[in-house]
Amino acid sequence: MPLDEYRRKRDFASSPEPAGAPEAPAGAGEEHFFCVQKHLASHLHYDLRLEHHGVLLSWAVPKGPSLDSRDKRLAMQVEDHPVEYGSFEGVIPKGYGAGVVMLWDTGTWTSESPDIDAALRKGDLKFRLDGYKLKGSWALVRTRGYGDSGKPSWLLIKHRDEWSGPLDITEFAPLSVKTPGADLADILASDTPTLWLRNPPAKTGDTGKLFQRIIAAALEQRAGAEALKEGAPRPAAKRAHAARTTDPTRRTAKTKAKAPRA
Ligand code: MN
Repeated sequence: MPLDEYRRKRDFASSPEPAGAPEAPAGAGEEHFFCVQKHLASHLHYDLRLEHHGVLLSWAVPKGPSLDSRDKRLAMQVEDHPVEYGSFEGVIPKGYGAGVVMLWDTGTWTSESPDIDAALRKGDLKFRLDGYKLKGSWALVRTRGYGDSGKPSWLLIKHRDEWSGPLDITEFAPLSVKTPGADLADILASDTPTLWLRNPPAKTGDTGKLFQRIIAAALEQRAGAEALKEGAPRPAAKRAHAARTTDPTRRTAKTKAKAPRA
């Protein structure tokens, strides 16, 4: 328990210091912070983080959460993260997790299991989410498998309720909740779009293509911003920006034209 050491060192019968509120087992009913970060790194995945005992318990969900109660989404537990990480959005230039992080959802979670620690030990945590995108009742169920981190794999499952259904939430609501309207390219454009021109964190497959696309889009945005600064005719620049943001095929076409043919 977090205050054990503090209490062990003190005799509250002879000291005016506060003992701290008695700790009921952390359990049902209390609201805690949660977030999901969309993380384009060597693979695109979604990091689910639940605040518990002053840290963020964390799971990497390769396919992202599903609102369909028939889906069981693999959720690989990873190391606990500091609470401050829960508002992070930005670019990790190199090293572990190199890529782009978007704050994809945030809000509060409450346990439906009466004792969170017991539920985690047992490998069956039932909880509610109240985020912008994810709501209602969920479960994390531990499997017998272990991920690369040496920590166990879990399944993230949406319970059937008024917030479940066949809507593909990662497709339907792909953007940031921290920077309204921002996609991964916008986040890269606001940092260092030239960073991975030569050496993106993923080069092949769908993830490689996704990196090429967001790098091209981020560079294009920067070029537009520079032109505006240098006093290019505003209406033309505005029109170009509108075309870029409203025509989803334009980015793809540009990227295709630039991509080297293997
Ligand atoms: Mn991650």
